[in-house]
Amino acid sequence: MEGQFVLPFFILYNMRKLLLLAVISLSFGNLSAQNTTYWQQHAAYKMDVTMDVKNYQYKGKQELVYTNNSHDTLKRVFYHLFNNAFRPGSEMDARIQSIKDPDARMIIKKKAGDLTIKESRIKTLKPNEIGYLNITNFKQDGVIAVAKTVGTILEVTLAKPILPNSKTTFTLDFDGQVPVQIRRSGRNNIEGVELSMAQWYPKMAEFDFEGWHADPYIAREFHGVWGDFDVNITIDKDYILGGTGYLQNQNEIGHGYQDAGVEVVYPKKTKTLTWHFIAPMVHDFAWAADKNYMHDVVKGPNDVDLHFLYKNNPKTIENWKKLEPLMVHVVDFFNRKIGDYPYKQYSFIQGGDGGMEYAMCTLILGDGTLEGIFGTATHELGHSWFQHVLGSNESKHPWMDEGFTTYVEDLAVNEMADKKVKNPFKGNYAAYYDLVESGKEQPQTTHGDRYDENRPYSISSYVKGSIFLSQLGYVIGEDKLAETIKRYYRDYKFKHPTPNDIKRTAERVSGANLDWYLTDWTQTTNTIDYGIKDVKDNSGKTIVILERIGRMPMPIDLLVEYTDGTTESFYIPLRMMSFEKENPNPAVTRTVLNDWAWAYPTFEFSISKSKTSIKKITIDPSGLMADLKRENNTYEIK
Ligand SMILES: [Zn+2]
Repeated sequence: MEGQFVLPFFILYNMRKLLLLAVISLSFGNLSAQNTTYWQQHAAYKMDVTMDVKNYQYKGKQELVYTNNSHDTLKRVFYHLFNNAFRPGSEMDARIQSIKDPDARMIIKKKAGDLTIKESRIKTLKPNEIGYLNITNFKQDGVIAVAKTVGTILEVTLAKPILPNSKTTFTLDFDGQVPVQIRRSGRNNIEGVELSMAQWYPKMAEFDFEGWHADPYIAREFHGVWGDFDVNITIDKDYILGGTGYLQNQNEIGHGYQDAGVEVVYPKKTKTLTWHFIAPMVHDFAWAADKNYMHDVVKGPNDVDLHFLYKNNPKTIENWKKLEPLMVHVVDFFNRKIGDYPYKQYSFIQGGDGGMEYAMCTLILGDGTLEGIFGTATHELGHSWFQHVLGSNESKHPWMDEGFTTYVEDLAVNEMADKKVKNPFKGNYAAYYDLVESGKEQPQTTHGDRYDENRPYSISSYVKGSIFLSQLGYVIGEDKLAETIKRYYRDYKFKHPTPNDIKRTAERVSGANLDWYLTDWTQTTNTIDYGIKDVKDNSGKTIVILERIGRMPMPIDLLVEYTDGTTESFYIPLRMMSFEKENPNPAVTRTVLNDWAWAYPTFEFSISKSKTSIKKITIDPSGLMADLKRENNTYEIK
């Protein structure tokens, strides 16, 4: 009450001070909001869906119990209707038509004289080939709410606001059409899999500390609300399904899911089966179905059931059989490198249009070479950790899921190879240098849809994201990196970690200050280039002068090889890290020099031996520092 009397006084006499006060109180308000402990929304889905396999249309009912754990009162909510992207004139269609390097899967190439014209496949879809998802009868706690479809988003104005720490129940009816496969989900993929059902249902958009993430479906990628799914899928009895979730009625369904020794006999007039799946603590639900699937179940580490569903194609069956024991090893490898896979089941399913990760499963193409499907299966399995358990936002920070997955994929492929290499990441560095040279690099803070072209997106996300970790091993040491990955998983599983969380984890584990690393590497396109500027004789000793040419700072490992065959290493800590890395190669004597502060362009140190006794000096012999111009990293005395 008192404030109301004070206010006119301020307005009349001290407007500026009032504004200042308002600004101060606003910023305090923000500060307290940022400092509140972590929270996340929760969604419990119940869905009943019936698939008509003749016209690829499906109808369903959805009940969603939504818990608002935020500090905000919500007056609107948003759902994704991904299927609507596959219609002529959609944003996805427009993007295919305007981007310089459209995804080859999404275009048809046509010859027009000497020219090749790329035509959007979405543009050519007929009404019975498009995708759609229509919503009717939307209710909140039994009361009709206004739900408006805008492209691939459903905007819902609530009948009553959802208060902090309260629940509400949304119900709706949906009917959809499975599009001809253009990207990820769809019908009749190029290998003849009938139904790849990803992003097929009305999916609640995520609301987190940053607000709503109701991104339209243009290209990439996904972010969802953590929760539980209870899904009934009714489909022609001849279809075999694989996907997210544990089948609850396996002894009624059969198709390889039944318990050992159970013989499944369908009642005589059975035309359809209703598959009942339950998936706890996931943020997505995908499935695939085909009449011609082979279905094997293999026991993996910790008693996890690994399901393999693939086309009964004599040309590729052998590859899939060989894949099975390999993937048991890879699950074990990831368990050891990152932490235990937390669900009881994972399915490798032939489907989709390449390889895409979903909760507890992947859809991958399966007709290629064993090497090819092994690489894809390993990558997609890796996403079970980096995205499906560590649920980082794939749209905003694609480098966190694609990059970290690529990192563990490269480690696993090397681990499984007959001939192991010392640096399995070499190709990544070459691709990253290539991107920088092209001049098309955009910072990793760019939203996945906002890259000018597809190739810079891919290299930035998969490759530069992977180097974030391999290079971090150089910065804090391999042991500390290994510990960082395990702790990151332990601390952030079943949450939505952000870029700062991986950085803070590395800081907690190593004790190093790493803000500069996250900033320069992920928020700018600054590059690294250190060089050996001069090597001088100084009365029996040698003076070495190094220079920092690139904007991004780094600590320096340096190796000196002498003419007598001996070696010696030097380490120059980076001042802003306040950290000294352990000697990465204890077999070689290491001298720790003074630290090098970023603002000084050069650094000088002395070697106790004469210049004539030196054969070669190398900055970063490991090759794990992404130094753009490696030619100035070595100095050879001939
Ligand atoms: Zn990936």
